Amino acid sequence: MTSSYLHIDRLIKRFDDFTALKGISLDIKEGEFVCFLGPSGCGKTTLLRAIAGLELPSEGQIVQNGRDVTVLPPEQRDFGIVFQSYALFPNLTVADNIAFGLINRGMKKNHAMEKVREWLCLVDLDGYEDKFPAQLSGGQQQRVALARALALSPGLLLLDEPLSALDAKVRIHLRHEICQLQRKLGITTIMVTHDQEEALTMADRIVVMNHGVVEQVGTPEEIYNNPASEFVAQFVGTMNFLPANVVDGDQLKIEGITVPSPQDVKGRHATLALRPEQIRIGKPSEPGLGATVKTIEFMGSFVRLECQLRDNSSLLQVDISAERAKQGLPARGEMCTLSWDVVNSQVFEGEVA
Ligand code: ATP
Repeated sequence: MTSSYLHIDRLIKRFDDFTALKGISLDIKEGEFVCFLGPSGCGKTTLLRAIAGLELPSEGQIVQNGRDVTVLPPEQRDFGIVFQSYALFPNLTVADNIAFGLINRGMKKNHAMEKVREWLCLVDLDGYEDKFPAQLSGGQQQRVALARALALSPGLLLLDEPLSALDAKVRIHLRHEICQLQRKLGITTIMVTHDQEEALTMADRIVVMNHGVVEQVGTPEEIYNNPASEFVAQFVGTMNFLPANVVDGDQLKIEGITVPSPQDVKGRHATLALRPEQIRIGKPSEPGLGATVKTIEFMGSFVRLECQLRDNSSLLQVDISAERAKQGLPARGEMCTLSWDVVNSQVFEGEVA
């Protein structure tokens, strides 16, 4: 037995001869906000649907709050769900949409309407009771969907790309609202997203998936600062990859220059990974890898330079804070050197595909 709220054990889902989930094991604590993050087709929606009972696993087990729910139909499980497409009843008012599940469960209409008003306040839609979905913006419809999912006070909230259909400004606003509400209610929440920024800003923990397996589970900081695999390093944030020869276990040779490796590596080839903001840019006379500045983009709070290494065609992205950039940057076409602190680099064995 486990003390986690949701326990997923070696879950496999096959669609004919295609295996969408290849033995997923995962524990989610009560009150946690977890994001399933990964590229299209990695299996994140299938996993969420299996948790909801909308998809029957081929093998494995799902235990929610101590109850084995693996093969239970959705109506016998304890969750609320919000889809990307809102999925509100178009012919029902906002109030009736939210009240629907409550009345279905036998709650008296006037009591249900009291609850509806409470939920509308919580999702900041006070006074919208009598509107129909078509009279609301996308963001407002999604807040109604959220209230409807939460109205039955489920133990688990499932969010299937709830923000994808919204424009950028509404999306960011709703991100904050969902996080605030989730923390206020303390409800265990799982959100599926392919948007790394969404996952990094919203989740307590991120489950990074690829090709039906879990690549890494960690806090946003762990995932960003210590990616467990090249895939995670590449998928989350921007990462520069530098092919290197291993001189000694802890020394790497890049472009004829020996640099320390952040950890011992086996084999002859390795790849050093560096975030753009971890790279310093210096004068050609200073130590570091020689490079030429190819492009300079002003991004507001920072300046992004694209630098080409002197001895090969590798292009590296380097981010310099706007504050530091004020002290002077090389111009486009000028030579420079690139350096970094070894603790801010990662190394992967072999060459990145
Ligand atoms: P997206 O972000 O595009 O929705 P995803 O990570 O959520 O991607 P899933 O929808 O879980 O991916 O699908 C995982 C894989 O399983 C995909 O290759 C998909 O084609 C396949 N798949 C999903 N549902 C079915 C189904 N009902 N029948 C056959 N294959 C399916």
